[in-house]
Amino acid sequence: MQENAVAPHLPAGSHAHLSGRVLGLAKLGLIVLDANQRIVMWNQWMASHSGLSAHRVQTSELFDLFTELRGQRLEQAVQSAMQSNLPQQLSPSLNRSPFPLYPTGTWGGERIEQSVSVTPFSEGKERYCLIEISDISTTVGRERQLRGQAEALRAQSYVDGLTGIANRRHFDVALDRELRRAIRNDGQLSLLLMDIDSFKAYNDHFGHQQGDACLIHVAETFAATLQRPADLAARYGGEEFGAVLPDTGAEQAALVAESIRARIAALAITHSPAAARPHVTMSIGVATFDKDKLCDAAAMLAAADGCLYAAKHAGRDCVIVHNPTESVNETA
Ligand code: GH3
Ligand code: MG
Ligand code: MG
Repeated sequence: MQENAVAPHLPAGSHAHLSGRVLGLAKLGLIVLDANQRIVMWNQWMASHSGLSAHRVQTSELFDLFTELRGQRLEQAVQSAMQSNLPQQLSPSLNRSPFPLYPTGTWGGERIEQSVSVTPFSEGKERYCLIEISDISTTVGRERQLRGQAEALRAQSYVDGLTGIANRRHFDVALDRELRRAIRNDGQLSLLLMDIDSFKAYNDHFGHQQGDACLIHVAETFAATLQRPADLAARYGGEEFGAVLPDTGAEQAALVAESIRARIAALAITHSPAAARPHVTMSIGVATFDKDKLCDAAAMLAAADGCLYAAKHAGRDCVIVHNPTESVNETA
């Protein structure tokens, strides 16, 4: 048996001498407590990760030795394992590092992350409890890294996570690309900005989850209304959406906007009683590229946003088209 391990009983049989070696070689922490929660076995892995030798801890009560574990989930698990004779597993996400255990030789640094299970057993009339501690730092670290990479990919992605249509990033890139093309070819380009009416009231009345479902329904309907492959339907943010319509002049864009408005209203999604209308509706602002007046993304966005604001003021559920000669012009 290893110098640093103490064991209550060795199994009978011709290979009994092996169990001490195995305890010393095991790459996980093994602790055995008696019915009084005294440590009767403490393997080499425990010694080298805690800095406490088996001789030092022998017959100490586990929760006297690690007072920080008193009243914690592990103590409850040991008690209920002994009472019910059923094994217990501590959730690693809730109990990351219950024992003060460190990578060998680095005491005082960061604790290793642990997965802990508690198994009761009897030997003759004596009752014991085996605690197994695995080092899951590498797995947890890898999971964290993968999660970080997934987040980074999502940030680089062009898809809105909730609705599945294009996101703001995609919208900005598409608007920029289509603007350059329009300038180069002396072509046409229109932009729609839309916002769900009284959506705060919808959320307040039906809850955020149903609010999300409503956003998805509206987004899908809006995207399905756009006909041309080059058109882009995007979630601009929150309950706001945007469309980039290449080769589309103001009149045509107004028709597209009106058909979106009408299709959303026709969904007849019941709105909150606090909203001005019985069904969910959208207000839409339209701006069209003009090489002299509206020739960059910021100016086009500001013009469409101004029309959207005017549509809200005009009573919502309507389309307002930017008129380069006047300020705004309501069409629906
Ligand atoms: P208005 O007609 O003037 O646009 O009124 P409004 O209530 O729609 O405008 P406001 O900007 O005050 O509120 C927008 C609300 O949209 C606030 C927020 O609760 C909700 N919202 C924004 N993003 C999300 C989302 O991702 N999910 C859900 N469920 N709600 C969202
Ligand atoms: Mg809004
Ligand atoms: Mg709104």
